[in-house]
Amino acid sequence: MSATTTKPILISGAGLASLLLAQSLRLSKIPFLIFERDASFVFRAQGYRLRLSSEGLDAIESVLEPKHFERFWDVCGKTGGSGFLTLDAITGEETSRSAPMSLNSRGGQVVGVARGDMRRVFAEGCEEFIHWNKRVTGYELTTGDGGGGVVALFSDGTRSAEGSMLVGGEGIYSRVAKQVSGGRLKVYDTGARGIHGQAPSAAFAGLGEGVFRLVDASRPGATVSVITNVRSRDMHDPGVRFGWTMGGHPGAIRAPNDDYTIVGAQAADLARSFVGGWHPRFRPLFDEMVESEAAFWKITCSTPSGVPEWPSDPRVTVIGDAAHSMTPAGGLGANTAVRDSALLGRLLREAGGYAPGVTAAYEKEMRVYASQAVAQSYATGKKSYGFNIDEETSPTV
Ligand SMILES: Cc1cc2nc3c(=O)[nH]c(=O)nc-3n(C[C@H](O)[C@H](O)[C@H](O)COP(=O)(O)OP(=O)(O)OC[C@H]3O[C@@H](n4cnc5c(N)ncnc54)[C@H](O)[C@@H]3O)c2cc1C
Repeated sequence: MSATTTKPILISGAGLASLLLAQSLRLSKIPFLIFERDASFVFRAQGYRLRLSSEGLDAIESVLEPKHFERFWDVCGKTGGSGFLTLDAITGEETSRSAPMSLNSRGGQVVGVARGDMRRVFAEGCEEFIHWNKRVTGYELTTGDGGGGVVALFSDGTRSAEGSMLVGGEGIYSRVAKQVSGGRLKVYDTGARGIHGQAPSAAFAGLGEGVFRLVDASRPGATVSVITNVRSRDMHDPGVRFGWTMGGHPGAIRAPNDDYTIVGAQAADLARSFVGGWHPRFRPLFDEMVESEAAFWKITCSTPSGVPEWPSDPRVTVIGDAAHSMTPAGGLGANTAVRDSALLGRLLREAGGYAPGVTAAYEKEMRVYASQAVAQSYATGKKSYGFNIDEETSPTV
């Protein structure tokens, strides 16, 4: 083992991909440090639920110890029901029904988890290595005794300890991604916008069990739709909330002053302004909304033709949305992110920590499945939200 293997692996962001990678490193006894811009896990609304595919669950299970995976599995919701139903939001009528197979993963059910719960379970045992209030703005490669390394730079002007490697897992606005790829990794603004919210589970009783898409196409060119996932088992537990995700064609949903960091009552009010004419069966989702959990989001997507190539840097790489952000259509983003963590974690374990060639091997394999996922999510998003990305001219975030 070289002298540099005792330097920690630096991880930017304490999101889903970073925390699962951290678990993998912890189990491999490879030191690491995580730098997160937020002050804590509950700093901002963590509201939305993620649907987990078989690939995503397999990746998570391949990293966590069996007992830890069991705890994770216990916090996941499992939805039965009759597949993916599309309903007209105004009339309440069913307009299409697709086979449940496309959404199901384990046990023939749709498996979903709140992002906040997923982070909490992934963080177990790694908490002491998370440095909060540290916004990573870039990095510097170092040379010298011990074979060199890398240092993360923070917005407060401070620098991290020297690491053997830096993994950028800080999501769609990743500066590490921009720097390591020389600007080749891009995130396009599709122009489409959304709001996600939550309500007590009883508000969903009128829907029944299943995965639903409510579509309001009454405004030409400005269709608004809501996706939600209802588990009947929890329907009568007053402590349980379900989430919904509203999305609109470009121009349909606009935040005041185009400020998409707004959360709470303002976001909730805007969501309600779209549902005035909706069928009474759907109204409780919005009338009984937990206002504090409502939040805007911009629908973004990385390069639809695939994760671009860049000259690999042995000391720096990127995982999750930093490498390949996707539209929410198809529910693939987190599932692809956890595959990155499992893959990079395995390669680092096999190499005994940092070693030249690990980032190149990881990027080569990641590019294949991530490019497929981005393309699939883009195609589905384009159909659902009516946007179009021109890789030459569309704005980036
Ligand atoms: C409404 C909605 C619904 C979705 N539904 C699904 C779904 O059903 N299934 C699915 O697979 N995916 C879904 N996704 C996508 C999924 O949430 C993301 O793909 C996933 O969270 C990516 O994980 P990540 O770890 O790469 O990034 P994130 O989870 O975004 O984590 C990034 C972390 O980095 C931190 N950070 C940001 N900037 C910095 C910085 N400069 N320095 C330090 N820290 C920083 C952030 O605070 C955050 O903690 C959905 C997304 C949205 C918005």
